[in-house]
Amino acid sequence: MISEKMMKLASGNSAIRAMFEEGNRLAEKYGRENVYDFSLGNPNFPAPHEVKDAILDIIEHDDPVFVHGYMSNAGYPDVREAIAQSLNRRFGSAYNAGNIIMTVGAASGLNIILKSLLNPGDEVIALAPFFVEYGNYVRNYDGELVIVPPTTDDFQPDPAEIAKYINSKTRAIILNTPNNPTGVIYTAESLKKLADMLEDKQRELGTSIYIISDEPYRELAYNGAEVPWIPSIYRNTIVGYSWSKSLSLPGERIGYVVIPTEADDGQLIFDAACIANRVIGSVNAPSLMQRVVMRCVDVATDLSGYDANRQLLYNGLTDCGFEAVYPDGAFYLWLKVPGGDDADFVERAKKYNILVVPGASFAGKGYVRIAYCVSADTIKNSMPGFKKLAEEYGLKK
Ligand code: PLP
Repeated sequence: MISEKMMKLASGNSAIRAMFEEGNRLAEKYGRENVYDFSLGNPNFPAPHEVKDAILDIIEHDDPVFVHGYMSNAGYPDVREAIAQSLNRRFGSAYNAGNIIMTVGAASGLNIILKSLLNPGDEVIALAPFFVEYGNYVRNYDGELVIVPPTTDDFQPDPAEIAKYINSKTRAIILNTPNNPTGVIYTAESLKKLADMLEDKQRELGTSIYIISDEPYRELAYNGAEVPWIPSIYRNTIVGYSWSKSLSLPGERIGYVVIPTEADDGQLIFDAACIANRVIGSVNAPSLMQRVVMRCVDVATDLSGYDANRQLLYNGLTDCGFEAVYPDGAFYLWLKVPGGDDADFVERAKKYNILVVPGASFAGKGYVRIAYCVSADTIKNSMPGFKKLAEEYGLKK
């Protein structure tokens, strides 16, 4: 016998596992280069040279007992101070090491925040479509995920709609911008309207409602698109960041959270989140990687490859007659399925060795997510298949 909670998760995971196995099966049959796997958000560009330089230099010159040792659960103070100062330069904030906790990627950042905020039965809002793990993270702490469906084709938050889902049990709303899976960046204007609504609700209910801003794609914004700094728009904002995408380090598990002092109970949340880091078993973020990111805080993400892929994919698919959300950020294209049956689209695409993820996996039925963190050749070579798919749907241009 295993835990009932885990039993449900293990059986629910089979769709993703099936996709992974399907990719392997097709690769064996047709050759890896003839399979167009757009299913995973794993960066395909290597980490910038600054990361390797930092690793080698640290290993060569720093004290190994210090570099590989335990430190306080929040992380090395000098690393946290360097991050705070970098944020202050960019966003005009006034953070210091006491606002930053180093985490095991964005995933663990979200977990320590949710663990610190939630009592059983508390509600956390997510705006559909959203990163599928949010539900699991919230349920880890016996909270309930409340899903707000989108109301418009531009996938900006709709404060009037969200307000309908807020009650005295609402502890937080998770925002993710630039967004996985839509590629949309929330505008300052829509965030301000959302903030006004949340302020009203806090006053009306006499509670604190936190925005948890999940920002692993912060640096992936094309053509200089602005990604607003939400704590400067809404006081009760806690930010989770990760270098998984911006420095192509998803396996290294390194990120941080920002808990502003001015947020309600800011210091209490900070103290709780430090302990949460320990008791969920992370203890602290990987020590070597903390030292590495300290040296890379101001390294710019090279977006040229993703940007070229974005154009190639968006133009290629719209030329075939498909409709998609034009992505301003992240590395996903959110394609509208003609007729709306996303499961059927995924099956049809497999015939052309194209693997995409059904929108239903993100609570976004009627769409599919196409991850373009792949080689340009994968996109180019997939186009004949997409063209045939468009013909099957009777699309023409
Ligand atoms: N949040 C979103 C929206 C993501 O897309 C991902 C990973 O794909 C994560 C969080 C988890 O990121 P990390 O690797 O930093 O834990």
